[in-house]
Amino acid sequence: MPGVGLPPLEQNVPPIALRNYGKWVDHEELRPGVLKHVAESGEACYTVRAGMPTNARVSTALARRIAGLADEFAEGHLRLTRRHSLELVGVDPARIDELTERLRKLGLPVGGTGRTFRNTVSCTGWIHCQFAATDAPAVAKAISDELYEDFLRERYPAKLKISISGCVNQCGEGSTADIGIIGVHRDLPRVIDEEVARCEIPLIVSVCPTGAIKPKPPKSVQVDPERCIHCVACAAPCQGMQIGDPETDGLAVVVGGKAGNSGSGPAFAKFVIPYLPNRPPRWPEVVQAVRRIVDLWVREARRDERIGDWISRIGWERFFQKTGLPVSEKHLDGYVLWPMSARTGVRFHW
Ligand code: SF4
Ligand code: SF4
Repeated sequence: MPGVGLPPLEQNVPPIALRNYGKWVDHEELRPGVLKHVAESGEACYTVRAGMPTNARVSTALARRIAGLADEFAEGHLRLTRRHSLELVGVDPARIDELTERLRKLGLPVGGTGRTFRNTVSCTGWIHCQFAATDAPAVAKAISDELYEDFLRERYPAKLKISISGCVNQCGEGSTADIGIIGVHRDLPRVIDEEVARCEIPLIVSVCPTGAIKPKPPKSVQVDPERCIHCVACAAPCQGMQIGDPETDGLAVVVGGKAGNSGSGPAFAKFVIPYLPNRPPRWPEVVQAVRRIVDLWVREARRDERIGDWISRIGWERFFQKTGLPVSEKHLDGYVLWPMSARTGVRFHW
């Protein structure tokens, strides 16, 4: 009985992993991108990890080449990690160098394990999302190019994860990365009355987390500029609510996030740069800001300190002093309307 839902796991797991399922006792990193896991039986499993194109987007031509390498080197199996890296599991240790070179020729560098810069995660951004304030995958590409050498070599105190979201909806999960880049809108939603008249007005009003939208007779809405936080929520239920402006959209930078339970536990990133301009195709201001934060962290952090741990030790005041990033009233924490905002969200239960 195949059941319903996802395909059975055993059809998609490499034989070496099935043989030792639940019986792994040790693992080590042999070099960036090469891992060795050892099972109870003493059997060793070698894994090669490589960076993938941003947003894990590949043409079918590249996908076939990758599949060909998986057939040749990894018993016909591959997987993508949580951060969109490619992993080939069960590689013959005598052929790891050959596989590394073959992957490199496909433009897929082997690395991104241990104390390195990990594969960058981003949402789809402008590629196919109407909410995006920036081209998240292209920003990820520009940052990845800047930190490319750090993907291959371990020169960091700890791992470095950078994630990019095209807007504050955070599909790229920047708020749980060491450095998060988040597209921000700064304009008010443009209300197109004739479109709004075809939508559910109560729905448009109710999705606004700050109560900024009020009905406008006979069948439209108006937005209070004092309350709008440019969150794009109202653009989802109605095409008549349009947000985004090439002149004012930009990017914010948050730092110190972490999703895992290890060390000091999960942490929500705090934002340090409220706005940088959208300057495709290479986003120089964003790349420069990332470089400035990373270089300081590398110089000053202790071994095993992720960026958030390092800032927790030295304090946010010294972080701003040392980075030279300006502090403004926008850094004040404590959104005064948060209780009301939380209660209007569908996820909130008292
Ligand atoms: S984070 Fe925003 S721009 Fe990116 S996919 Fe989600 S909604 Fe779209
Ligand atoms: S963008 Fe967000 S805060 Fe502004 S009006 Fe729309 S839902 Fe409300």
